[in-house]
Amino acid sequence: MSAEKRIRFEELDALGATAELLFRDGFITLNDERMVLLHAHVLGALRRELVRTVGMEKARGVLTRMGYASGAHDAEMTRRRFPHRTPEENLYVGPALHRLEGSVNVRLNRVEVDRGAGRCLIDASWNGSYEAELHLESYGVHTGPVCWTQLGYATGFTSSIFGFPVHYREVACRGHGDEDCRLIGKSVSEWDHDTIEAELAYYRSDPVAEQLMALEEQVATLRETIEERQGRAELVGRSEGFRRVCELTHKAAASDVTVLLLGETGVGKEEFAKEIHRHSPRNARPMVTVNCAAIPADLIEAELFGVEKGAYTGAVSSRAGRFERADGGTLFLDEVGELSPSAQAKLLRVLADGIFERVGGTRPRRADVRIVAATNRELGALVDTGGFRSDLFYRLSVFPMRVPPLRERKADIPLLAERFLERFRVDHGRATLKLTDSALAALSHYHWPGNIRELRNVLERGAILADRDGLIHRGSLFPATDIALPQAFPAAERAPRDTEGLVAELLDAGEDFEAVEAAMFREAVRRCGGNLSEAAKRLGLTRATLAYRLKKNA
Ligand SMILES: [Zn+2]
Repeated sequence: MSAEKRIRFEELDALGATAELLFRDGFITLNDERMVLLHAHVLGALRRELVRTVGMEKARGVLTRMGYASGAHDAEMTRRRFPHRTPEENLYVGPALHRLEGSVNVRLNRVEVDRGAGRCLIDASWNGSYEAELHLESYGVHTGPVCWTQLGYATGFTSSIFGFPVHYREVACRGHGDEDCRLIGKSVSEWDHDTIEAELAYYRSDPVAEQLMALEEQVATLRETIEERQGRAELVGRSEGFRRVCELTHKAAASDVTVLLLGETGVGKEEFAKEIHRHSPRNARPMVTVNCAAIPADLIEAELFGVEKGAYTGAVSSRAGRFERADGGTLFLDEVGELSPSAQAKLLRVLADGIFERVGGTRPRRADVRIVAATNRELGALVDTGGFRSDLFYRLSVFPMRVPPLRERKADIPLLAERFLERFRVDHGRATLKLTDSALAALSHYHWPGNIRELRNVLERGAILADRDGLIHRGSLFPATDIALPQAFPAAERAPRDTEGLVAELLDAGEDFEAVEAAMFREAVRRCGGNLSEAAKRLGLTRATLAYRLKKNA
């Protein structure tokens, strides 16, 4: 009495293997192995819960081992079903099954196997990894690859098929901001043991190792907290625009190219400059920041290039400039559009020949410095009007990167808001701080002329005005006053207000009703230039009632 449905997969037929899905009486089997269909977003929730419960590092271990088990299982099934086929042939069944099971689209770029010698080299690409998608949705771009279950699967499948341990590493990952994922697999003996030891640890569920990992994780978390306090919190997102900048950042970091960061005030250009330095081969040396707009034009050259004793009145001793202090590292020139013409000329020379002299000095000095410059101005337009040298402009814009304004990456707002709140929970000693749904919606609707910096300020205001339960209401983010938002914005663009939030604010402040009422009446009259009838109309009262209440409260 049962309906059966069989699906045969021709893709595997082409490989000389077969795969058959059978649906029957609440059972789904793939080549006689029972399978279960799960909602990807439920897996996402499970993954988040795991991370929350045991921490990111331990969760990675659990997911890696889960993937390993399922890869090894598929390999076993493959061997059992196709005993006449060689392991080299059966290797191709793994990617096909992985694809069929809905994990990811696999492309094998290169396969070299010498089973006798226990060696192999496999280079594969992953397109559309479900795991990267889930991770981005929950946490935004990660500091490393994130397709842990899938990597475990590849390791489990290949090791089991070949009969010797093969280790895979994800060398690019969509969850890390790369375009797509790519993995390299080699026999464990061929990897440099020191570099994969930490990765191999994810395959062991030894409780001692777990404890060590937990301690390691604590250290890493503490370090991360410190880094976040230095502003790194702002580098989070999942939007296309953010991902693109991350990708460029990683590319720029690997080379010594001069980078020009473009973008409005408050978009976090300095954070990207730091990220470039942090990931560059120069990261053991200092990153020195100069805000060209904050230093007077007559001092900027001395500041940048240093000064020799007696170069001008007041130069009582020789001192090094920022170029010398950044030696071997990175020099970040913020607001580079504000440089004086003579500083521009000197900068051009350093960029062209790597040579400069201190102010008042004659000895040429060599600068081993990577330049990252930033500006919120249209440098091209500045060149046209003679405010900026065109030759310097071309030297600086070898590798331009535009950091998008927040309104173009609204998908990142929930993640950014959570990062800021994490910080405010600590700073304000309120562990329960949380945005209401309507507050979050308001954040997403607003157009953020001040970008991430403004978001941070708005949230901090909200954190201070949060209600007793730590809830931040819409009205605490965007106060319902005319001063808070410039009138120039169209009405629809202005932050929405909500009465509920406003009321919560007033109640928390312990305001008494009569005082609030009186203040409201007085303000209405003031705005109407003392015209009682007009004020009454705005308040929805008669003129007489308003006059009476004003008198009563006076
Ligand atoms: Zn990945």
